Amino acid sequence: PGKRRKVVVGNWKMHTTSAEARQLAKGVANGLGNEDDVSVILCPPFPYLALVREILKGSRIALGAQNMYPEKEGAFTGEVSPMMLLDLGCKYVILGHSERRHKLGESDMFINQKVRFALASGLGVILCVGETLEQRKANQTEALLDRQLSLGLADVPADALPRISIAYEPVWAIGNAAHHATPQQAEDAHAILRGRFANLFGEEAAEAVAIQYGGSVDPENAAAFLRRNGVDGALIGGASMKADQFLAIIRAAK
Ligand code: PEP
Repeated sequence: PGKRRKVVVGNWKMHTTSAEARQLAKGVANGLGNEDDVSVILCPPFPYLALVREILKGSRIALGAQNMYPEKEGAFTGEVSPMMLLDLGCKYVILGHSERRHKLGESDMFINQKVRFALASGLGVILCVGETLEQRKANQTEALLDRQLSLGLADVPADALPRISIAYEPVWAIGNAAHHATPQQAEDAHAILRGRFANLFGEEAAEAVAIQYGGSVDPENAAAFLRRNGVDGALIGGASMKADQFLAIIRAAK
């Protein structure tokens, strides 16, 4: 405990106008206190990356993207390459988010292509995994996490491991305050993931990898998740849309 740095990520999804994005980024940057031991990453929509980057200049908040396409450039209408993200100052990219898996039909194989290409390009990857309610009810959580982790990270080179973090996000708990996971369920899932990571890459790498929890984390419940063994931070959707709420979660991670 205490060895792994906590990570708090704000996933703005497909929200904000440019004016709101500016205001939100300013609110977070100006409100950040002495939580130096917590890494903070903001992931605005693509069109606002450049303006958020300007606002974050001089702060210690890193910029991330919510997705990318696994090619350098080419005839991929509507897609965004990791080179473009790097050019805009992104250090991280979220991959395998449940909304992309379930609403846009992304497969483990496609996510793995993205993971490998993002890492080869120099980005840090936040790989999201998590079971649906049906899978949990059918006792398939462990098998599902196992599959998403091992397929998502297949053929990842060992020297890229320090640039990977995992986000455990039970699909049924995302954007669903009435139905969020218990801290114990999070701790158990994180232990499964860390165990599987150790099988894939060894104990040392598994001890070092940050595993964030995501699923309706808010200022009220954040501390209960973040003090659990093996919960190394949080991926925040809804509560990252309000600077004061997001800042309160960062303080809870300290
Ligand atoms: C997410 O988008 O990854 C997420 C966890 O959303 P929310 O916090 O709104 O559940």
